[in-house]
Amino acid sequence: MLKNKVAVITGSTSGIGAGCAKALAKEGCHVVLNGFGDAAEIDALRSSIETDYGVKCLYHSADMTKPDEIASLFEMAAKEFGGVDILINNAGIQYVSPIAEFPTEKWDAIIAINLSSAFHTMHHAIPLMTKRGWGRIINMASAHALVASPNKGAYVAAKHGIAGLTKTAALEVARDNITVNAICPGYVWTPLVEKQIPDTARTRGMTEEEVINDVMLAAAATKKFTTIEQVAGLAVFLCSDVAENITGSLQSIDGGWTAQ
Ligand code: NAD
Repeated sequence: MLKNKVAVITGSTSGIGAGCAKALAKEGCHVVLNGFGDAAEIDALRSSIETDYGVKCLYHSADMTKPDEIASLFEMAAKEFGGVDILINNAGIQYVSPIAEFPTEKWDAIIAINLSSAFHTMHHAIPLMTKRGWGRIINMASAHALVASPNKGAYVAAKHGIAGLTKTAALEVARDNITVNAICPGYVWTPLVEKQIPDTARTRGMTEEEVINDVMLAAAATKKFTTIEQVAGLAVFLCSDVAENITGSLQSIDGGWTAQ
């Protein structure tokens, strides 16, 4: 379905991003991985995608807080693959603290990585997609693009911001055969979520089990975590031909959390 398309996925060395990379490669896309981590592990992921799915997979280490490194990521994709068809803005971090105690540098980092980077990537990707006459942009937002939780001020602000940026970009490129949508997952079991369990337990004075059951899954009507494969499956669907008229939308995949 997506054979020989070129996908750039930020923050794809782990979690949801790595899942999206594999799912798109399975459909025949060439992939540019990005993100941090152990060099040997990243290279093992890169080469396993090539051997498992018979596509070309490259890695670029661009730090999403650095606009010049983001520019270099797109220069590489254009040089190596001749363009970009699919962009998934997925890189993201979390920090849990009340606003009164929230460290300024954490606020700045979350806004830069979770929100501003999507402006910088789209700034480079849209001209490349317009040139090819086709494009799919997916912004990995969150249920926190729609509703808030205490102690996640920067994350909720960034994700609400990404929702607005998604809609604006969708309107700007609507006549260019490029769609722009956001995926809004509830809790997905990934390293990002695992890492926030002890922090939330500390700030709310709970046990880690209480955080899982009474905080993370409290609002999910299904009482289930979303899986990486389910999010990646939705991303593949949004890249497919039948999704060509879905644009500017916020796609919830949250077990009924934001239905309430
Ligand atoms: P993760 O921690 O497993 O992966 C995050 C990725 O971002 C990693 O590859 C990491 O190296 C990369 N990254 C971090 N800082 C970066 C930077 N400065 N430059 C480049 N890459 C950087 O997290 P995840 O749970 O897979 O989250 C992926 C996205 O999904 C995030 O945007 C997150 O907000 C969103 N999301 C996650 C959940 C969840 O429950 N896990 C729910 C809703 C939304």
